[in-house]
Amino acid sequence: MPARTGAQFIAGLQENPPNIYINGKKVEDVTTYPGFRNGINTMARLYDMQHDAKIRDEMTYTSPTSGDRVGLSFIKPTTSQELEQRRVMITNWARVTKGMMGRTPDFLNVSFMAMAAAGDYFGQNRPEFKKNIQDYYEHIRENDLVLTHTLVNLQRSRVPVGTVIEDSTDIALSVVKETDSGIVVNGARLLATLPLSDEIAVYPARSHVLPLGAPGRTSFAFSIPCSSPGLKFLCRESFDLDRSHFDHPLGSRFEEMDALAIFDNVAVPWEKVFLLGDVELCNNMSMNTRQFVHSGHQVVAKNVVKCEFMLGLANIMVQTLGSGQQPHVQQMMAEIIENLVVTKACLRAAEADAEIDRWGVLSPAEFPLMIARQLFIRMYPRMAEILHLLGSSSLMALPTEADMNGPLADDINRYLETDTASADERVRVFRLAWDTCCSAFGSRQVLYERFFQGDRNRNVVLLNNMYDREPMTDWVRDFLQEE
Ligand SMILES: Cc1cc2nc3c(=O)[nH]c(=O)nc-3n(C[C@H](O)[C@H](O)[C@H](O)COP(=O)(O)OP(=O)(O)OC[C@H]3O[C@@H](n4cnc5c(N)ncnc54)[C@H](O)[C@@H]3O)c2cc1C
Repeated sequence: MPARTGAQFIAGLQENPPNIYINGKKVEDVTTYPGFRNGINTMARLYDMQHDAKIRDEMTYTSPTSGDRVGLSFIKPTTSQELEQRRVMITNWARVTKGMMGRTPDFLNVSFMAMAAAGDYFGQNRPEFKKNIQDYYEHIRENDLVLTHTLVNLQRSRVPVGTVIEDSTDIALSVVKETDSGIVVNGARLLATLPLSDEIAVYPARSHVLPLGAPGRTSFAFSIPCSSPGLKFLCRESFDLDRSHFDHPLGSRFEEMDALAIFDNVAVPWEKVFLLGDVELCNNMSMNTRQFVHSGHQVVAKNVVKCEFMLGLANIMVQTLGSGQQPHVQQMMAEIIENLVVTKACLRAAEADAEIDRWGVLSPAEFPLMIARQLFIRMYPRMAEILHLLGSSSLMALPTEADMNGPLADDINRYLETDTASADERVRVFRLAWDTCCSAFGSRQVLYERFFQGDRNRNVVLLNNMYDREPMTDWVRDFLQEE
């Protein structure tokens, strides 16, 4: 089947509805539920872009198996041109969402491409797992499915159990039974962003590894439909309050939702199991398959777009308030420019230094992407803070659309006008700024960027362990020995 349209994506969620719970109730049809439907419509818009004649070649490529046009984020890049094509496709989607939907399907499409290419890694103990991961990648590519994923086990306590990146497994999601048809898993994990998906992937996190003596029942990788019996998504409250685009410019469009994933004795068929029972193989999966590099490529391309959005928005705020000549405002604008240029430079360096890996995939260089991701954990909260500092009380003097047409309309027009903007223009700009840095939607964006890719403390351990410091150390040692 060729790349899906928006209507096909929506029909898929209606035919196989994910098991979604929110506000004490199960949602029967997520596509019409206020609080979900607008985010789903934005996703549908992304799918429709695959059929837009003007950009079709930027969004899709010819499937190596069916010959159909399929989503470009599934491509296995082997040349710089293909890597660039993939980045253009990712950027096109991110520009629609202004980088505010981190989990557009490209995030997991690139990951599964890498895992499938590294099929031999999965087949080391169980040759059938190689076929499983490769068939699954082809299945999601040819059916253009949307995936959510959940990697992190809940913890009763954060007292370290071993190394700083190890988690305890006492309440971990676990295999409770193996049968002729597959495995049965029980437990819970957090979080699953975009539970409004066709399938959920469950695999080991790079930043939360299992202790080496962990029971085998806690180590696995698999995927199942979000409609599977016994699987339940417990959602946080929606930040799309079903208000107008004027009132909530971002929340009314880009709510992707986050959920606790509860597995109540859920059956996983053997053909969808990719790893089982080998703690070491699980702990090293992401690094050895290079999955983290490809997801990093998607994340950093998205981060460039998000920086561009923050810069454009900050600039309009400054122009509206006429504060651009003040030195401290210039300094803050310069900070956003620095963030954008550094993030872009890392993305470019990662592509320029890309190499064919042992699985035959052109793999972007890991360190520029790891550094860009690490920096963004600090950059994004700081950029949100800069919007606070630039906007101040204008972020609170915010009439709603109803106010703009209500009894105080004349007062609003008179008092909220600035030298460079009408009251209407000012209110639109600052409602957007408020939804970016003050609203529940905006606060969640900050939390997301701080944590979704693992917390900074664990990530620095990974970075320190990976980076070869010996050549520099030897060089300085030699200097110390010079007469
Ligand atoms: C908005 C959002 C969306 C997310 N979406 C997804 C998703 O789609 N899929 C998914 O799998 N995960 C997702 N996550 C989860 C994310 O991977 C975790 O939040 C992240 O890895 C941190 O783990 P934690 O939340 O368990 O925090 P904790 O580990 O509980 O950390 C809490 C605090 O304690 C510190 N800390 C705890 N233990 C240690 C330790 N051993 N060493 C050093 N410091 C420690 C942390 O630095 C942090 O400051 C999402 C998170 C957020 C906030």
